Amino acid sequence: MRRVFKSLRSRLIALILAAMLPMLAIVWLIGVQMYHTAVDDVYRETKTLVQGISLQQEKHINAARELLFALSASPEITEQRPGFCSTFNQVLAQQSIFANVGMTDLEGNTICMGAPRTHQRSFSDRLWFRQIRQGRNEIVVGDYHLGVMVNEPVVIVAKPVKNKKNEHLAYLFVSVDLSWFNRLTFGSELPKGAEVVFYDNNGVILHADSKPEIWRGKPVGEAIRKTGAPDPETGVVEAFGSDGVSRLFSFARLQSSSATENAFVAVGIPTDTALAQVRRTGGWAALVVLGVFGGMLLFAWVGTERLVITPVRRLIRQANAHAAGDLARRSSVPAGTELSTLAHALDQMAVKLAERDHELARHLHAFNEHAIVSAADPDGNIVYANDKFCEISQYTREEIIGNNHRMINSGFHPPQFFTALWETISKGRIWHGNIRNRRRDGSHYWVASTIVPFFDDNGRLERYFSIRTDITHALTIDAELQKSEARFRLLAENALDVISLHDPDCRYSYISPSCERVLGYAPAGLIGHDGYELVHPDDVERMREMLHQPALLGQPGACEYVRLRHRNGDYIWVDASAVPSRDETGHIVNIQLSVRDVTARKRVEDVLRLHDRALAASGSGIVIFRRDDFGIEYANAAYSGIVECPKADMPGQSWPMLRPTPGSSGAWQILREAVNAGDEMHVVVEAISRRNHTLWVDLFASPVRDESGVVTHYVAALSDVTEQVFMERALLRAKEAAEQASQVKSKFLSHVSHELRTPLNAIVGFAQLLESDPDAPLNAEQQEGIKRILRSGWLLRELIDDVLDLSRVEAGRLVLKPEEVNVFDLLRECQQTIAAQAAEKGVEIVDSSGECVRHTVRVDVRRFKQVLLNLLSNAVKYNREGGRVAVSCDVSEEGAMCIVVSDTGIGIAPEKQDQLFQYFSRLDAENSGIPGVGVGLALCRHLVDLMGGTISVESILGEGSSFAIELPATSCVPEPAYFGPV
Ligand code: ADP
Repeated sequence: MRRVFKSLRSRLIALILAAMLPMLAIVWLIGVQMYHTAVDDVYRETKTLVQGISLQQEKHINAARELLFALSASPEITEQRPGFCSTFNQVLAQQSIFANVGMTDLEGNTICMGAPRTHQRSFSDRLWFRQIRQGRNEIVVGDYHLGVMVNEPVVIVAKPVKNKKNEHLAYLFVSVDLSWFNRLTFGSELPKGAEVVFYDNNGVILHADSKPEIWRGKPVGEAIRKTGAPDPETGVVEAFGSDGVSRLFSFARLQSSSATENAFVAVGIPTDTALAQVRRTGGWAALVVLGVFGGMLLFAWVGTERLVITPVRRLIRQANAHAAGDLARRSSVPAGTELSTLAHALDQMAVKLAERDHELARHLHAFNEHAIVSAADPDGNIVYANDKFCEISQYTREEIIGNNHRMINSGFHPPQFFTALWETISKGRIWHGNIRNRRRDGSHYWVASTIVPFFDDNGRLERYFSIRTDITHALTIDAELQKSEARFRLLAENALDVISLHDPDCRYSYISPSCERVLGYAPAGLIGHDGYELVHPDDVERMREMLHQPALLGQPGACEYVRLRHRNGDYIWVDASAVPSRDETGHIVNIQLSVRDVTARKRVEDVLRLHDRALAASGSGIVIFRRDDFGIEYANAAYSGIVECPKADMPGQSWPMLRPTPGSSGAWQILREAVNAGDEMHVVVEAISRRNHTLWVDLFASPVRDESGVVTHYVAALSDVTEQVFMERALLRAKEAAEQASQVKSKFLSHVSHELRTPLNAIVGFAQLLESDPDAPLNAEQQEGIKRILRSGWLLRELIDDVLDLSRVEAGRLVLKPEEVNVFDLLRECQQTIAAQAAEKGVEIVDSSGECVRHTVRVDVRRFKQVLLNLLSNAVKYNREGGRVAVSCDVSEEGAMCIVVSDTGIGIAPEKQDQLFQYFSRLDAENSGIPGVGVGLALCRHLVDLMGGTISVESILGEGSSFAIELPATSCVPEPAYFGPV
């Protein structure tokens, strides 16, 4: 069955049949409906019949009633006059509907009756009799039963016969004959073969329309044998009738006025008759349906063959052909249907498959050209081997196929190796690894293997493919390479130079450990970094041009003096060289760079170059010559100028290339001897140049020693000092003349000063006498005059003293008398001296000299006071009204003492500060009205110089000046108690 449904046609037909099923259901429903209609008809006919019977029966009972009333009204009967029984016979003769008419006594025994008595029978047990005896009703209708006298189905209607006292005397009864059913039923329009059965409450047949004499008194169940349950709506049931014919029976209770309705009517209409219409219609419907079915089946059979089966068969043939490898086969299914679309898709698929086959064939060809391929079953038996396999293993394909892979096992790998391999592929994983195999001739070869397992639908290992590449040669090269690399690493790692490998884009791929020492970077930290990262930006371009680009073109490159950044941020100088490194195909795969730290050398070279340039640029003639043969090894331009010999002619010449003058030959001889002795010398000597010019040279020659201290060379510096010599000679003469003049001037100044001093003393002395003479007091005008004389006199005396001092200094006749003195005391004394002058001008003196309270200096006290007073006096003089003078004293850590006198006065313009300390330089003060002669500061400097100190000034114009005297402090007074608060 299942096979049948595998056929496309049978499935299509099954589908059509399935589509017909609703139609069948409709036909079936219509049939059922018609059947029910037929049953309804039977039911309705039964009802009509039973109603008719009921009416008829009621009519008969009423007739019986009337008869009984008539009889009971007849005195003949009530009194039972003789012959009254004949009345009953007459009644019976006239009324066929009555089966019997009679009278019973009060015990039920028949007194008289119209029907012939068949046997003695009492009615006392009858229902109607019991009811009438009770006397409740005037008329009693009994139950349906078979008449005991007449053996007919009857209903007895009875009436008591009463006397005047209304006592029962007898009972009249009429048996209503039910055999009229026959007549009625035969007269009805029941169809032919219909059966009517009349039965009582107990199921006893009272009357049966067919053969009543047989069935009367028998159970109804025997006459009507139901074949199924009655219709729930109508109660109609199919049953076999008394004659064994199948009928549709409808049952109904008989309606009557009897005391108990105990009769039922069953009407059976032959099934064939009842369902004749249904069957006819059903038959036609079945015929139509079958016709349609047949037609459709025929159409389906023929149609599917043409429209579906044939194209599908073609498609199947095409697919089979494709499967068999004939991808050119086409199905030629007519266009315009889904099947043609399918055919087109199949064609497309075939085209794609052909393309893919083609591509695959090319891949396979390429693959087989490269790889050693074999396939094996799960036991390791080889089922496929390509040419390469045969070639490398040296076995023929016939020898290989069916054989086990063990045939090429070299025994090199331990059994665990293959166990692990099998474990991997049996788990469905791909195995990769290198295997050493054995050729037929016993030699070995190495292959890089990939083993791919394939499983069947049940998950069982079905096949495995081994794809291998011969790596014997590669392994040999690799081993060589490893050795070579090991050697390279050994060299690189122990080299002092930094050796590195760079990708073509110059990133570090290797760097030797020396990198850490040279550049401060750990090699690992630089791998992958750009090689130019550490190069000084100014050198990047040069490195690219000289190293990188040639290396990429396959040329070695070198580049001197490039800067690389050390980790500490400094740049080091390196010489770099690059060589390209190629793979076996000749492609440049990386650049090998060697870097040498030449920072130290560069420094030396720089210094040497500097020296060289300095020597070349030097105005002095520099010459280096060998000590042994005086051969010149170097001479600068200045030297060649001095000796008047072109530089180009220098090589091969002997030092000094100057000839001695007649007067200087001795000096030159000494010089030569000094050189021979290896001594150093400095002379100014006369000589004659190559071009016969006479000149004076300042010559300084020093020996140059080698590492062991032996003098190998001499370096001599020569300067043409001809002009200097002549100038010095002139100066000497001028100096001698000036000294003579100065001595004359000093003598003159000293003389004049002495000569001026005597009359000046007389003028001042007499002026003082005049001022203080009590005998001749002066008036105010005179006193003013005397004061002017005295002021001018004192000023003149100061000037004379200063000029005298000046002349003494210049003549070197000023003798100092140094002594140890406390500075603090000196400063206090000087401040007191100047206090009046300061007060006069409203200048405050601030003393901070306490710092030096414990310190002494070794000075000429008078002269030092003279210096201090001059500074203090200037500070007051050149101060502003109400200004301030500060005196401070400081001792440095080295013990030098610094006394500073500063003021808040007019200050000194910076450009004029150079003129301070010069004789008679007043810096425009002469126009200010401030008295002075411009000698004080010059004298101060001479005096401080003589005392071993220095004097200096700092001043800001308009803000004030500070004069500082610095003296070497001699000692520190140890007794602090000596000094009280200042
Ligand atoms: P004199 O005071 O007699 O002119 P000095 O030799 O003492 O001579 O000073 C030279 C000049 O230096 C002064 O004329 C004055 O112009 C300038 N000078 C000296 N001391 C001060 C000072 N404290 N402030 C401003 N100018 C000064």
